[in-house]
Amino acid sequence: SEDRVRHFIRQIIDEHLDNGTWDHVATRFPPEPNGYLHLGHAKSICLNFGLGQEYNGTCNLRFDDTNPVKEDVEYVESIKEDVRWLGFDWGERQFFASDYFEKIYQYAVKLIEMGKAYVDSQTAEQIRETRGTLTAPGTHSPYRERSVEENLDLFTRMRAGEFKDGEHVLRAKIDMAHPNVVLRDPALFRIRHATHHRTGDAWCIYPMYDFAHCLSDAIEGITHSVCTLEFENNRALYDWVLDTLGIAPRPRQYEFARLNLTGTVLSKRKLIQLVQEGHVSGWDDPRMPTLSGIRRRGYTPEALRDFCERIGVAKADSTVDFALLEHCLREDLNSRAPRVLGVINPLKVVIENYPEGQVDEFEMPYSPEDEAAGTRTVPFSRELWIERDDFMEDPPKKFFRLGPGREVRLRFAYYVTCTEVIKDESGEIVELRCTYDPETKGGWSKDGRKVKGTMHWVSVPHALPAEVRLYDKLFTKDNPMEVEEGQDFTANLNPESLKSVQAYVEPSLATAEPGFICQFERLGYFCVDTRDSAPGKPVFNRTVTLRDSWAR
Ligand code: ATP
Ligand code: MG
Ligand code: MG
Repeated sequence: SEDRVRHFIRQIIDEHLDNGTWDHVATRFPPEPNGYLHLGHAKSICLNFGLGQEYNGTCNLRFDDTNPVKEDVEYVESIKEDVRWLGFDWGERQFFASDYFEKIYQYAVKLIEMGKAYVDSQTAEQIRETRGTLTAPGTHSPYRERSVEENLDLFTRMRAGEFKDGEHVLRAKIDMAHPNVVLRDPALFRIRHATHHRTGDAWCIYPMYDFAHCLSDAIEGITHSVCTLEFENNRALYDWVLDTLGIAPRPRQYEFARLNLTGTVLSKRKLIQLVQEGHVSGWDDPRMPTLSGIRRRGYTPEALRDFCERIGVAKADSTVDFALLEHCLREDLNSRAPRVLGVINPLKVVIENYPEGQVDEFEMPYSPEDEAAGTRTVPFSRELWIERDDFMEDPPKKFFRLGPGREVRLRFAYYVTCTEVIKDESGEIVELRCTYDPETKGGWSKDGRKVKGTMHWVSVPHALPAEVRLYDKLFTKDNPMEVEEGQDFTANLNPESLKSVQAYVEPSLATAEPGFICQFERLGYFCVDTRDSAPGKPVFNRTVTLRDSWAR
């Protein structure tokens, strides 16, 4: 496609390679295994793995697993699956911050020995209250001047499990009056008697994110540590830890704007809430903005990578229109999804002059342009399903589909004319009677007469019944966080986000495998659900409609 934009991180790296700061590039993607990855993570994955590839460097997959309480192997496995699905291969470069616990502990000991860290025995609340505010400095802990020996003794005993959670905490000794609150003696290690999903009960003290992250980067030889803007203030601590410990050469942190998307939430905490409160069927519910959700919905990794390249990488926060992601998806699916016929709101048509028992077999191309995509045979008979919306009893001028006395083309088959409308007692249309012109076989007429509409159809006796799940936006507002007093974002859930209908699709789809993506002509892109579809009982998810609402 277009030339890759030299976004600011690419510019920084170019400069470093030019001026010899670095002669290689090493990045990492550092998820915490406390939830499933979402579309925001895709931006970070594409950025970090993309930089690794572009510069012939490396990108590590690092599990930032320093908080035992919320983490789990289920999440580790799902993260690996999602990164692989997006198209990135970390090879041997899979790491866990928990593998560095001993090293990180030793660095903490070194800081104590340097007089740069101390054990504080105040409560969490006291520590919070003495941190000061943006405008007022904090105050010193009464334990701040403990001797190195006393600190070493206490820290050793913290590790040995002699104390309860919260009894002590190891803090960096920096500056309680620092204008950047992050530097006011931040916590480095805390006591947490919890079983870790990898280290089990080997540890009862765990390093804080700010301490573990910079050291993990340094241990792995990361050159450019890219993260989202909310860590901007933490950069000073990142630098303080590495510089105080004299680690050189060392990684540096660069912050970019996180991805925000209209009409959805990109925060694991909120997504967990949707799952736990049962608003969705699970992390991979096709309405979820998780990678497993959109994968099940039928989104492709190609569309997602294209999207991530198009949105770019900037330093200022913004919200991207979800329609852009759908636009990228349609572009990708348009070029590859086979075209098939399916009717999702069926209305029966009987062709009165078509002989009973006769079947025409039409060979139809899977692609309008690409002959190599091949063809399949679609049966046509006296009774057909058409789309209920394709008929109007009293059609307005601009309606070019079927109406009483009107002639239309049935895709690849024949011209038909509606002769009679049959209703039930309540007045609902239950069936149409039509005639066909045998001279229009294949869907065109030798006499050159024109029909305005072309409609899709499925032969009733040959039709494959299928459940089709029609999805709409999960939230009714562009910003789901906009709520009334006393509500939370779930108040903005769209009650109509899932509609399940009984559809009829062409018989060739009987062999479609889970995950198979196709276009139901005129309706949209659909894929066979990977969870609920079964042989003979197919379930299709509507991936996206055909109408593109992306305004350039
Ligand atoms: P959440 O806020 O959803 O809990 P997180 O940042 O806590 O996400 P991590 O597992 O720590 O989740 O994220 C791994 C990486 O992905 C981090 O470098 C983080 O900055 C990045 N990331 C998370 N959310 C986004 C987003 N919306 N846009 C871009 N990058 C993101
Ligand atoms: Mg995080
Ligand atoms: Mg988080």
